Amino acid sequence: MKKQKAKAIIVGGSIAGVSCAKALTCAGWDVVVIEKSRAPTTASPTGAGLGLDTLSQKIIQSWLPHPEPFYKVTLPLPIDQNRATDGEKKVNWVLTRDENLNFRVAHWTDLHALLYNTLPREIFLWGHQYISFCISEDKTSVKVKAKDLQTNEIIEVEGDLLVAADGACSSIRQSFLPDTKLRYSGYCAWRGVLEYSGKNLDTMMGFRKAYPDLGRCLYMELAPGTHSTLCELMYERLNWIWYINQPEPQLKVIPLS
Ligand SMILES: Cc1cc2nc3c(=O)[nH]c(=O)nc-3n(C[C@H](O)[C@H](O)[C@H](O)COP(=O)(O)OP(=O)(O)OC[C@H]3O[C@@H](n4cnc5c(N)ncnc54)[C@H](O)[C@@H]3O)c2cc1C
Repeated sequence: MKKQKAKAIIVGGSIAGVSCAKALTCAGWDVVVIEKSRAPTTASPTGAGLGLDTLSQKIIQSWLPHPEPFYKVTLPLPIDQNRATDGEKKVNWVLTRDENLNFRVAHWTDLHALLYNTLPREIFLWGHQYISFCISEDKTSVKVKAKDLQTNEIIEVEGDLLVAADGACSSIRQSFLPDTKLRYSGYCAWRGVLEYSGKNLDTMMGFRKAYPDLGRCLYMELAPGTHSTLCELMYERLNWIWYINQPEPQLKVIPLS
C-alpha cells in the first residue's frame, strides 16, 4: 500500500512561504499555501534587494532544473564596504572593506517569480486570509480556518504541519508565543528602487562617481543619527534603504476581521 503523503499548510506566500513550499515539495510533502493577496505579487510592499549568502544561493540553485535563471536575476556582490561620513566637513572615509562577501543580490519580485514558477499553481489559495488553527487531541494533525476574501466563505484545511510564513507580525506566532513582542530597532527606514535604464542617466553618472564599485559592492554609509545602504540590481536598477534614528512611532494595529 502506498503511504499517504504528509501535508503541510503554509500561511503566507511571500519569500519565506514559497521557499518553504519548494523545500517541502522537494522532500515529498503535499503542500497548500494560504495567502491573503489576491494574486501573485509583481511588487513587494516590503523588501526589494534581497542579499543571498552562499548557503541560500546553493539551496535555491538545488531547487532549479538549470542554474541559468538564477544567474539571470541575481548580481554578484563580492564586496561589502562601510563608510563614515562627516556631513559638516563633507568628507567620508572607509571603516571596513570586505572583498570576500560572496553574496548575490536579487530583486524581491524576480526571486519570488523564480521560485513561484517552479511550483504547481494548484497548491496556492490566493485571496484567502488565515483566521485560526486548532491541533487535534492526539497532536498528530492541525486544522486551519481561512476566509475567502472574495466570497467571505470560511474554509477548513487539514494537514500534518503548520508553517507560519505570515511575516514579521505573524498572527500564528502570536498564538504560540503571546508574550513575544517585536522590539523597536531605534530607526525608521525608507527604501526604493531606482530604475535607470535609458533615463536618470545624469543621476547614475553621479552615483557611479561617488560609488565606483557599484555593481559589485554593498555600500553602507554611516553618519550621526542616520545610515543608508546602496547596491545595484540586475536590469539597471539601484536598490537603496535610508534609515533615520528616531523614537518609536505609534503604529496602528489593524485587527483581523
Ligand atoms: C519597509 C521594509 C523594507 C525592507 N527592505 C528590505 C530590503 O531591501 N532587503 C531585504 O533583504 N529585506 C528587506 N526587508 C525585510 C524583508 O521584507 C523581509 O525579510 C522579507 O519580506 C520577509 O519575508 P517573509 O516571507 O518572511 O514575510 P513577508 O514578505 O512579510 O510575507 C508575509 C506574507 O504573509 C501574508 N500574510 C500575512 N498575514 C496573513 C494572513 N492572516 N493570511 C494569509 N496571508 C497572510 C502576507 O500577505 C505576505 O505575503 C524589509 C522590510 C521592511 C518592513
